[in-house]
Amino acid sequence: MSELERLLRPELRGKTPYGAPQLEVPVQLNTNENAYAIPEDVAAIVERYLSREVRGLNRYPDRDALALRTDLAAYLGHGLTADHVWAANGSNEILQQLLQAFGGPGRTVLGFMPSYSMHPLLARGTGTAFVDAGREDDYTLSAGHVRAAIAEHDPDLVFLVSPNNPTGTALGADVIEAAYGAARGIVVIDEAYAEFARDPESTALNRLAGRKRLVVTRTLSKAFAFAGARVGYLAADPELVEKLLLVRLPYHLSSLTQAAARGALACAARLQAEVDELKHQRDRIVKNLRAKGLPVADSDANFVLVGGLADAAAVWRAVLEQGVLIRDVGLPGRLRVTAGTEEETTAFLAAFETVMDRHPDLFGTGS
Ligand SMILES: *Cc1c(COP(=O)(O)O)cnc(C)c1O
Repeated sequence: MSELERLLRPELRGKTPYGAPQLEVPVQLNTNENAYAIPEDVAAIVERYLSREVRGLNRYPDRDALALRTDLAAYLGHGLTADHVWAANGSNEILQQLLQAFGGPGRTVLGFMPSYSMHPLLARGTGTAFVDAGREDDYTLSAGHVRAAIAEHDPDLVFLVSPNNPTGTALGADVIEAAYGAARGIVVIDEAYAEFARDPESTALNRLAGRKRLVVTRTLSKAFAFAGARVGYLAADPELVEKLLLVRLPYHLSSLTQAAARGALACAARLQAEVDELKHQRDRIVKNLRAKGLPVADSDANFVLVGGLADAAAVWRAVLEQGVLIRDVGLPGRLRVTAGTEEETTAFLAAFETVMDRHPDLFGTGS
């Protein structure tokens, strides 16, 4: 053990950081980014918002990001106002702040894996114990399972993801109700993919009124094609938002970030057209792979979890050899693919078909 390793907090020793491979491959469908570049007309508007900020960069930004929060609340609707909304550098920072405020040493966050791989890492970084209550064999999540797990572990926070990553499906309202009813702590619904849901009414924003411990997190990384800008946010009771001010870094959200996000939000309707196209490509992947006999669940996100692989790691490599990078999320017999543009999706389906033809031995078992 090196000297620095010895000095490291014990729970971090020997651990590896988050690391989705960033490979230079013609078709990259591995991190659920929006496949579309920012359209020219949207880029021009974002640039206008940004350019207004440059000369004032000698000053710190608005600490409370009030103009941005007002725009985010207007985008969300549901009667929400700026004081229900909080923003940060990606929803990852939002989740970290929630753990800093309501978790921490001696406290527990309950999750249901397989789900977003960052949740356990954020828990570890904040000294919060992460308890994985798992899912059914087919990775669905029932209200009864959630209720029993909360009763068993009595968590300070519960993390649910809807639509879930990497499985793709949205949670039923009964599951969210069961979690909120059973828990005494904060219940977080991570809705990074909400705009891609088949039923837009499945959002937990519908349930915020009167529920002080309920939090819905969102991001501009996926639907707004804004992953590089790092903007995430939450909607919750105004008192909960006030508590988060206790742990945020002063001036955590740069004036450039705030301005760029406001520019993107001004183009929400324009960007929705590309969300619709990505949903179409996603459904195309589901239909195409099902027709090939593979078990594929319906998706409410911008990606699809493909099953029926006898050797997922070997299929991943074979698809990569065809110039298409998808994601091995470590689930036996499964791989995750992000919906791309029409051309990228066509390239993926062609690559996958080639691999199925050449290596039939890699398919068939698993489910
Ligand atoms: C992609 C993703 C996020 C996004 O995180 P940002 O920090 O906003 O980019 C959050 N939660 C889940 C489940 C995701 O898949």
